[in-house]
Amino acid sequence: MLAASASLLNVKVVILDVGDHAPAKQIVAPLGPELAHVDGSFADPEKIRELASKVDVLTVEIEHVDATTLEEVRAASQGKQLAVHPSPSTIQIIQDKYRQKQHLASHGLPVSDFVAVESSIESISSVAEKLGLPLMLKSRTMAYDGRGNFVLRDIQQAQQAIDFLGNRPLYAEKWVPFSKEVAVMVVRSANGEVQSYPVVETVHKNNICHLVFAPLRSRDASLSQRARSIAENAIKTFSGAGVFGVEMFLMEDDSIFINEIAPRPHNSGHYTIEACETSQYENHLRAILSLPLGSTALKVPSSVMLNLIGYSSSMDEITKTANVALSIPGASIHLYGKSECRKGRKMGHITIVAESDLQLRTRLRPLLQSLPGSTP
Ligand code: ADP
Ligand code: MG
Repeated sequence: MLAASASLLNVKVVILDVGDHAPAKQIVAPLGPELAHVDGSFADPEKIRELASKVDVLTVEIEHVDATTLEEVRAASQGKQLAVHPSPSTIQIIQDKYRQKQHLASHGLPVSDFVAVESSIESISSVAEKLGLPLMLKSRTMAYDGRGNFVLRDIQQAQQAIDFLGNRPLYAEKWVPFSKEVAVMVVRSANGEVQSYPVVETVHKNNICHLVFAPLRSRDASLSQRARSIAENAIKTFSGAGVFGVEMFLMEDDSIFINEIAPRPHNSGHYTIEACETSQYENHLRAILSLPLGSTALKVPSSVMLNLIGYSSSMDEITKTANVALSIPGASIHLYGKSECRKGRKMGHITIVAESDLQLRTRLRPLLQSLPGSTP
């Protein structure tokens, strides 16, 4: 989606990913032998150096990259002025969720209680005594789509949690009994100017984002403004340009905690492609290229995004839902061209725009009914 946006601005793109048919490489034709796409992993220092040698601006779409090498190529390029966005130090803080929480707390941003924990029954038991049960145990690194989280409901499960989370470093969070999950995309220019998108409601299923409704509806008219300023203030504390996704918990009393931040275009911002004046992808490009930022305003009254998540190794269920979307006014289908479908893997999404929430719900219903396991 970033590559598609770049092509509309005549921005030439070189991609580092595994294989010749990686999704972004299907969008951008290689720019000849000198500027060919790179085949390899974003965690491989050699490949990162190869990519860096071909570009003027380097950006990432995932935080689980080798940030040390990113910093090395940035520092080594002083003469040539290679820009790396967001800055490697920002990625370093964010990719360790415990460091990220410490960073947010030290800047006075609202986060719920969290503590470091060892991978031992004794350490987990003492933290559970302090923060109570249920307790959210999280892997500090390499976590996404809930795969680094374990909900400890009973202290007897401590060994099971250690086995599930493997030998990754851990920390624990107090359980947050939120009423809703909300998110705000924020775009930050290289000189530190920030602009936020509207607040959205995110609905998760099995720890994976399922639906995103934009904008958030609430009784309290000041809520959206409060959530947006918390998100903007959080992003002001980091360096480097680009878009950031700020995931938040909304409590029954309308107070807000930050859950976590993504230093990149984010699933909760996919709706911006059809529903906002400038998509998160175009604004990410504008930010990292030092162009003026585009308007983040909604251009439709109501929108929703449905993630298309694999159910098995077959694409059949995904195709069925996409086919239903073909007959829905205001629906846009995005299939990512990933080579393999797997259970729990994000294979695409559908965004619906509408003139009202009522019309949106009417348009969404047949899509939800087409999902496996839904009762007609
Ligand atoms: P991921 O990197 O997998 O997105 P998150 O930390 O965002 O990990 O957790 C995934 C989901 O788990 C959240 O969207 C939320 O639904 C739930 N969750 C995370 N932390 C807590 C918490 N402290 N209390 C209650 N639920 C939580
Ligand atoms: Mg999350």
